[in-house]
Amino acid sequence: MSNNSRRAFLTAAVAIPTTAAVVGLTGGTAHAAYSWSRTLKEGLRGADVTQLQIRVAGYPGYAAVLATDGVFGAKTKAAVKRFQAAYGLTQDGVAGTNTYKKIYSLQSSDNTPIHFKYSELNKCNSTWGGGKVAASTAKSNALRLMWKLEALRHALGDKPITISSGFRSVSCNNRVGGSSTSRHLYGDAADLTGVHSFCTMAKRARYHGFRNILGPGFPNHNDHVHLASGGSTWSASKCGINGR
Ligand SMILES: [Zn+2]
Repeated sequence: MSNNSRRAFLTAAVAIPTTAAVVGLTGGTAHAAYSWSRTLKEGLRGADVTQLQIRVAGYPGYAAVLATDGVFGAKTKAAVKRFQAAYGLTQDGVAGTNTYKKIYSLQSSDNTPIHFKYSELNKCNSTWGGGKVAASTAKSNALRLMWKLEALRHALGDKPITISSGFRSVSCNNRVGGSSTSRHLYGDAADLTGVHSFCTMAKRARYHGFRNILGPGFPNHNDHVHLASGGSTWSASKCGINGR
Protein backbone atom coordinates (compact mmCIF):
# COMPACT_ATOMS: atom_id res chain seq x y z
CA MET A 1 0.00 0.00 0.00
CA SER A 2 1.45 3.38 -0.97
CA ASN A 3 1.27 6.28 1.41
CA ASN A 4 -1.44 7.83 -0.69
CA SER A 5 -3.64 4.79 -0.82
CA ARG A 6 -3.08 4.15 2.90
CA ARG A 7 -4.25 7.67 3.61
CA ALA A 8 -7.27 7.13 1.42
CA PHE A 9 -8.01 3.89 3.26
CA LEU A 10 -7.72 5.58 6.66
CA THR A 11 -9.95 8.44 5.55
CA ALA A 12 -12.56 5.95 4.40
CA ALA A 13 -12.25 4.02 7.65
CA VAL A 14 -12.85 7.21 9.61
CA ALA A 15 -15.72 8.23 7.39
CA ILE A 16 -17.70 5.01 7.82
CA PRO A 17 -18.63 5.42 11.50
CA THR A 18 -19.59 9.05 10.87
CA THR A 19 -21.95 8.00 8.09
CA ALA A 20 -23.38 5.26 10.27
CA ALA A 21 -24.03 7.77 13.04
CA VAL A 22 -25.85 10.08 10.64
CA VAL A 23 -28.00 7.21 9.39
CA GLY A 24 -28.80 6.40 13.01
CA LEU A 25 -29.86 9.97 13.64
CA THR A 26 -32.18 10.31 10.71
CA GLY A 27 -33.60 6.82 10.69
CA GLY A 28 -33.88 5.91 14.33
CA THR A 29 -34.67 7.17 17.77
CA ALA A 30 -32.07 9.96 17.88
CA HIS A 31 -34.32 12.47 16.06
CA ALA A 32 -34.08 15.65 18.05
CA ALA A 33 -37.39 17.25 18.92
CA TYR A 34 -37.55 21.03 18.84
CA SER A 35 -36.26 22.79 21.94
CA TRP A 36 -36.13 26.42 22.98
CA SER A 37 -33.01 28.27 24.02
CA ARG A 38 -34.53 31.39 25.56
CA THR A 39 -37.47 32.45 27.68
CA LEU A 40 -40.25 33.89 25.53
CA LYS A 41 -42.62 36.63 26.60
CA GLU A 42 -44.78 39.40 25.22
CA GLY A 43 -42.92 41.71 22.85
CA LEU A 44 -40.47 39.15 21.51
CA ARG A 45 -40.50 37.71 18.02
CA GLY A 46 -38.79 35.02 16.04
CA ALA A 47 -38.99 31.51 14.67
CA ASP A 48 -38.94 30.18 18.24
CA VAL A 49 -42.11 32.18 18.93
CA THR A 50 -43.76 30.49 15.93
CA GLN A 51 -42.77 27.09 17.33
CA LEU A 52 -44.32 28.04 20.66
CA GLN A 53 -47.48 29.32 18.97
CA ILE A 54 -47.91 26.01 17.14
CA ARG A 55 -47.87 24.20 20.48
CA VAL A 56 -50.29 26.52 22.27
CA ALA A 57 -52.59 27.08 19.27
CA GLY A 58 -55.13 24.82 20.95
CA TYR A 59 -55.62 27.48 23.63
CA PRO A 60 -56.89 30.58 21.80
CA GLY A 61 -60.14 30.96 23.77
CA TYR A 62 -63.71 30.53 22.53
CA ALA A 63 -64.20 30.84 18.75
CA ALA A 64 -60.72 32.28 18.32
CA VAL A 65 -57.75 31.17 16.26
CA LEU A 66 -54.20 31.99 17.32
CA ALA A 67 -51.95 33.34 14.56
CA THR A 68 -48.68 31.46 14.20
CA ASP A 69 -46.81 34.54 12.99
CA GLY A 70 -43.73 34.60 15.19
CA VAL A 71 -44.91 37.68 17.07
CA PHE A 72 -45.51 37.21 20.80
CA GLY A 73 -48.45 39.54 21.42
CA ALA A 74 -51.31 39.69 23.92
CA LYS A 75 -53.14 36.78 22.29
CA THR A 76 -50.10 34.53 22.45
CA LYS A 77 -49.64 35.52 26.10
CA ALA A 78 -53.28 34.61 26.81
CA ALA A 79 -52.85 31.28 25.02
CA VAL A 80 -49.72 30.48 27.04
CA LYS A 81 -51.69 31.29 30.21
CA ARG A 82 -54.51 28.94 29.21
CA PHE A 83 -51.97 26.23 28.42
CA GLN A 84 -50.37 26.77 31.83
CA ALA A 85 -53.78 26.64 33.53
CA ALA A 86 -54.66 23.41 31.70
CA TYR A 87 -51.57 21.72 33.13
CA GLY A 88 -51.55 23.24 36.60
CA LEU A 89 -48.59 25.57 36.05
CA THR A 90 -48.18 29.13 37.30
CA GLN A 91 -50.16 31.32 34.89
CA ASP A 92 -47.72 34.09 34.04
CA GLY A 93 -48.02 33.96 30.25
CA VAL A 94 -44.25 33.61 29.98
CA ALA A 95 -42.74 30.53 28.33
CA GLY A 96 -39.83 29.55 30.56
CA THR A 97 -38.42 26.42 32.15
CA ASN A 98 -41.67 24.97 33.53
CA THR A 99 -43.71 25.63 30.41
CA TYR A 100 -41.03 24.14 28.16
CA LYS A 101 -40.72 21.14 30.46
CA LYS A 102 -44.44 20.48 30.07
CA ILE A 103 -44.30 20.93 26.29
CA TYR A 104 -41.34 18.53 26.07
CA SER A 105 -43.30 15.97 28.03
CA LEU A 106 -46.09 16.23 25.46
CA GLN A 107 -43.84 16.19 22.40
CA SER A 108 -42.59 13.20 20.42
CA SER A 109 -39.21 13.18 18.69
CA ASP A 110 -40.81 14.24 15.39
CA ASN A 111 -42.50 17.21 17.12
CA THR A 112 -45.98 15.72 17.02
CA PRO A 113 -47.91 15.72 20.30
CA ILE A 114 -47.60 12.36 22.06
CA HIS A 115 -51.19 11.22 21.50
CA PHE A 116 -51.30 11.76 17.73
CA LYS A 117 -49.15 10.57 14.84
CA TYR A 118 -48.64 11.66 11.25
CA SER A 119 -49.75 8.19 10.17
CA GLU A 120 -53.12 8.69 11.90
CA LEU A 121 -53.58 11.99 10.08
CA ASN A 122 -52.89 10.49 6.68
CA LYS A 123 -54.43 7.14 5.80
CA CYS A 124 -54.55 8.20 2.14
CA ASN A 125 -50.90 8.04 1.07
CA SER A 126 -47.41 8.30 2.50
CA THR A 127 -46.31 11.34 0.52
CA TRP A 128 -48.87 13.97 1.60
CA GLY A 129 -49.07 14.85 -2.10
CA GLY A 130 -52.01 15.14 -4.47
CA GLY A 131 -54.07 17.50 -2.33
CA LYS A 132 -54.74 21.19 -2.85
CA VAL A 133 -51.46 22.35 -1.34
CA ALA A 134 -47.84 21.23 -1.56
CA ALA A 135 -47.07 18.05 0.35
CA SER A 136 -44.87 19.94 2.83
CA THR A 137 -47.70 22.38 3.54
CA ALA A 138 -50.23 19.60 4.04
CA LYS A 139 -47.89 17.88 6.47
CA SER A 140 -47.17 21.06 8.42
CA ASN A 141 -50.92 21.83 8.53
CA ALA A 142 -51.40 18.36 10.02
CA LEU A 143 -48.78 19.04 12.69
CA ARG A 144 -50.55 22.26 13.69
CA LEU A 145 -53.87 20.44 13.73
CA MET A 146 -52.48 17.71 15.97
CA TRP A 147 -51.48 20.21 18.67
CA LYS A 148 -55.04 21.54 18.68
CA LEU A 149 -56.35 17.99 18.94
CA GLU A 150 -53.96 17.38 21.85
CA ALA A 151 -55.48 20.39 23.64
CA LEU A 152 -59.00 19.13 22.93
CA ARG A 153 -58.09 15.63 24.11
CA HIS A 154 -56.66 16.99 27.37
CA ALA A 155 -59.69 19.23 27.96
CA LEU A 156 -61.92 16.16 27.63
CA GLY A 157 -60.12 14.29 30.38
CA ASP A 158 -57.25 12.68 28.43
CA LYS A 159 -59.48 10.00 26.99
CA PRO A 160 -58.86 8.57 23.51
CA ILE A 161 -59.89 10.49 20.43
CA THR A 162 -59.86 8.45 17.24
CA ILE A 163 -59.22 9.95 13.83
CA SER A 164 -61.25 8.23 11.13
CA SER A 165 -59.99 10.48 8.33
CA GLY A 166 -57.32 13.16 8.00
CA PHE A 167 -55.41 14.35 4.93
CA ARG A 168 -56.86 13.31 1.58
CA SER A 169 -55.44 13.66 -1.91
CA VAL A 170 -57.99 14.61 -4.56
CA SER A 171 -58.35 10.96 -5.54
CA CYS A 172 -58.76 9.78 -1.93
CA ASN A 173 -61.32 12.55 -1.39
CA ASN A 174 -63.27 11.59 -4.51
CA ARG A 175 -63.28 7.95 -3.43
CA VAL A 176 -65.02 8.77 -0.14
CA GLY A 177 -67.34 11.31 -1.77
CA GLY A 178 -65.79 14.29 0.03
CA SER A 179 -66.67 17.86 -0.93
CA SER A 180 -64.38 19.36 -3.59
CA THR A 181 -63.63 22.20 -1.18
CA SER A 182 -62.98 19.88 1.76
CA ARG A 183 -60.33 20.97 4.24
CA HIS A 184 -59.11 17.38 4.19
CA LEU A 185 -57.44 18.31 0.88
CA TYR A 186 -55.28 20.80 2.82
CA GLY A 187 -54.23 18.47 5.61
CA ASP A 188 -55.79 20.64 8.29
CA ALA A 189 -58.94 18.59 8.89
CA ALA A 190 -59.70 15.52 10.98
CA ASP A 191 -62.84 13.46 11.42
CA LEU A 192 -63.20 12.27 15.01
CA THR A 193 -64.83 9.34 16.70
CA GLY A 194 -63.84 7.79 20.02
CA VAL A 195 -65.24 7.43 23.51
CA HIS A 196 -66.89 10.84 23.77
CA SER A 197 -70.28 11.66 22.31
CA PHE A 198 -70.02 13.57 19.04
CA CYS A 199 -71.73 16.59 20.61
CA THR A 200 -69.28 16.59 23.53
CA MET A 201 -66.38 16.83 21.08
CA ALA A 202 -68.07 19.36 18.78
CA LYS A 203 -69.02 21.68 21.64
CA ARG A 204 -65.64 21.55 23.34
CA ALA A 205 -63.81 22.04 20.03
CA ARG A 206 -65.16 25.61 19.95
CA TYR A 207 -62.48 26.55 22.50
CA HIS A 208 -59.51 24.99 20.76
CA GLY A 209 -58.82 26.85 17.54
CA PHE A 210 -61.07 25.31 14.89
CA ARG A 211 -62.60 27.57 12.23
CA ASN A 212 -64.57 24.65 10.85
CA ILE A 213 -66.70 22.36 13.06
CA LEU A 214 -69.31 20.05 11.51
CA GLY A 215 -71.22 17.47 13.49
CA PRO A 216 -74.62 15.84 14.13
CA GLY A 217 -77.37 17.66 12.28
CA PHE A 218 -75.09 18.69 9.42
CA PRO A 219 -75.58 16.48 6.31
CA ASN A 220 -73.42 13.33 6.42
CA HIS A 221 -71.97 14.21 9.84
CA ASN A 222 -74.12 12.16 12.20
CA ASP A 223 -71.41 9.52 12.70
CA HIS A 224 -68.37 11.71 13.31
CA VAL A 225 -67.25 15.24 14.12
CA HIS A 226 -65.27 17.11 11.47
CA LEU A 227 -62.78 19.70 12.73
CA ALA A 228 -60.49 21.89 10.65
CA SER A 229 -58.19 24.84 11.24
CA GLY A 230 -59.22 26.45 7.95
CA GLY A 231 -62.70 27.00 6.56
CA SER A 232 -65.42 28.99 8.30
CA THR A 233 -68.54 26.98 9.07
CA TRP A 234 -69.71 25.78 12.45
CA SER A 235 -72.74 23.56 12.11
CA ALA A 236 -73.99 20.77 14.35
CA SER A 237 -77.65 21.65 14.91
CA LYS A 238 -78.33 18.53 16.98
CA CYS A 239 -75.67 19.79 19.39
CA GLY A 240 -77.06 23.32 19.45
CA ILE A 241 -74.22 24.66 17.28
CA ASN A 242 -75.54 26.96 14.57
CA GLY A 243 -72.71 29.18 13.41
CA ARG A 244 -69.85 30.88 15.16
ZN1 LIG B 1 -64.26 15.70 7.56
